[in-house]
Amino acid sequence: MKKATRRIRPTKRLSAGSHRMFVALDYVCLVGITAHACFIPLFWLLGVPLLAAVNVLSVAAWIVARLVNRRGKMDLAVVLIKLEVAAHATLACTLLGWDSGFHYYLWPLIPFAALNERISPRIVFIEVVALFVLYSVLYWFTRQIQFTGPSPQVTESIPFMNVGVVFTAMGMLAVYYRLATTAAEERLRIQASTDDLTGLTNRRRMLEYINEELKRIRRSGRDATLVMADIDHFKQINDKHGHQCGDAVLVGVADELRAKLRSQDFIARWGGEEFLFLLPETDMTGAQIAAEKLREAISACEIEFDDRKLSVTMTFGIAPLDTGAGIDESISRADDALYRGKQAGRNRVMTWQIPETEPVKS
Ligand code: GH3
Ligand code: MG
Ligand code: MG
Repeated sequence: MKKATRRIRPTKRLSAGSHRMFVALDYVCLVGITAHACFIPLFWLLGVPLLAAVNVLSVAAWIVARLVNRRGKMDLAVVLIKLEVAAHATLACTLLGWDSGFHYYLWPLIPFAALNERISPRIVFIEVVALFVLYSVLYWFTRQIQFTGPSPQVTESIPFMNVGVVFTAMGMLAVYYRLATTAAEERLRIQASTDDLTGLTNRRRMLEYINEELKRIRRSGRDATLVMADIDHFKQINDKHGHQCGDAVLVGVADELRAKLRSQDFIARWGGEEFLFLLPETDMTGAQIAAEKLREAISACEIEFDDRKLSVTMTFGIAPLDTGAGIDESISRADDALYRGKQAGRNRVMTWQIPETEPVKS
């Protein structure tokens, strides 16, 4: 059974990158609301009621940022967050002094700006410079201010508490960035090895599989077979029912082939309506049985498109993956067998045969 997951959604459609940003902001706001809510009693106990009151406003600002983000205005939410952090750090340093460590909160604003793909590198640079200026000004004006809390231990623990919160925020940003990057790389990897229409392996990836298999059979001496298959009279389907229907037939055929193939076999969309199979640990007799099974399955299946039900047949050509001949020649042999199958009337399985050598004239 599929696990139920709670998904947060913005009120309008977003691109993949923006959607990632939206989700990240939603969590960042949650952390912001929680952290500031915890600060309210803390500042109260420290005897700084002004900061406790400011934290109430901060909680409100983070709640507004979260709501604004959920309404699809993530740029406004980002501005609100940045202003809140900068203003809060400034006020806390001014009241409690530089040593309280509230200036540390300005640090996560750097990755927060840099990882936001919605703002240009130029703006990121300007923001970083502005942060540096603010940081320097704060240092200059607040380093003399001394805060004495209820006890020296409490006073000393404030900067550590701030460092802890900032470390957590930075860690979360780093993990988020890593997850986002890994997911993007995985998507690219799949895209680079998959055929868009059918979802089958593409030609490039299939050549890699065949290459790996060739190395394996060179070591083990086992058999492997290639099968080239082509839909019969496919052009007529396009001409009669339209290109979209042709595409639907290709998808239907690909699904049927994939469903009927053993899990250890490989299948690729080789060209327009041509498919190539790699059957590891299979000799020619085994490949003939497998191809015949596929041929029967395709000719028996009906593909629905709009209100129509369409049937197609396929012709198959088989050749061994030959370590001596190499990949290109082995594929070309399967292609030759397929061509002979077409000539012989289609909807059949043909095997490659060693061409008869011409007698040497004396
Ligand atoms: P044969 O039995 O000899 O294979 O005849 P055929 O009509 O299947 O072969 P032919 O090579 O004459 O035509 C192949 C057709 O496949 C022509 C081309 O427009 C169509 N085709 C190739 N790729 C696609 C595709 O992605 N989508 C659709 N709808 N048609 C495609
Ligand atoms: Mg064809
Ligand atoms: Mg063809």
